Amino acid sequence: MFARGELSSKWTVCANFGVGKRAPTVGILEEVWLPSMNDHEYYMRRAIELATQVPELPFGAVIVDGNLGVILAEGWNQTSLNPILHGEIDAIHRLVARGSGFARQNLILYTTAEPCPMCQGAILWSGIATVVFGTSIPTLQRLGWRQIDIRAEEVIRRSPAWTCTLVGGVLERECDALFEQAAAWRS
Ligand SMILES: [Zn+2]
Repeated sequence: MFARGELSSKWTVCANFGVGKRAPTVGILEEVWLPSMNDHEYYMRRAIELATQVPELPFGAVIVDGNLGVILAEGWNQTSLNPILHGEIDAIHRLVARGSGFARQNLILYTTAEPCPMCQGAILWSGIATVVFGTSIPTLQRLGWRQIDIRAEEVIRRSPAWTCTLVGGVLERECDALFEQAAAWRS
């Protein structure tokens, strides 16, 4: 797991950790598993798979126990049923439906696009410690997607009661391609 409270707009924050390495024990911190960039890409590929279920709204999300490497919940955009059922919200609902008992500091949410303020707020309230996204909000805006103009980083920064690590740009090209294609179909 990444250092809590660490905030980065680029994935390079975790690229140094290497594959399958364990972080050196520092002070009172226990030795913890650090997901590598390969791990991030693996789970992001699953989020992309889910997103393609709704290719016109390709927002897919996966919640993983970062210590165990286990997918706990998956979600995708279901705003045709409910306007607030973004992919991240859908995944959080499914996580909650599994019951409690998760070590929330180990939870990583992967999403094909940077969470909107509603979803990033829900992620904080859910106690999910790490968010990994592909496409950025500015890219969505450039492609004509309707967006609230507040970055996930700002939501976290203005929420001092929580810590949440943000990792952006994972499989960004692949995620951007989903949204470019959807935008092309729409126009
Ligand atoms: Zn959202």
